[in-house]
Amino acid sequence: MPIYRYTCENCNHEFTVMHGMNEEPEILCEKCGEKAKRSIGKIGISFKGSGYYITDSKSSDNKK
Ligand SMILES: [Zn+2]
Repeated sequence: MPIYRYTCENCNHEFTVMHGMNEEPEILCEKCGEKAKRSIGKIGISFKGSGYYITDSKSSDNKK
């Protein structure tokens, strides 16, 4: 799930929120409770394991 950075328009407090890509939740500032605006660009994606594919293209059937 992507992590987005939000900036409060009131107190300029920056924080991050994790939500789905297609969701547009109303995020309120942690500090003052005013509406926060989503900054452009996500800062990260939480990947868990499963990254590497070892492509062994050399399938030698002649094993003898
Ligand atoms: Zn605020």
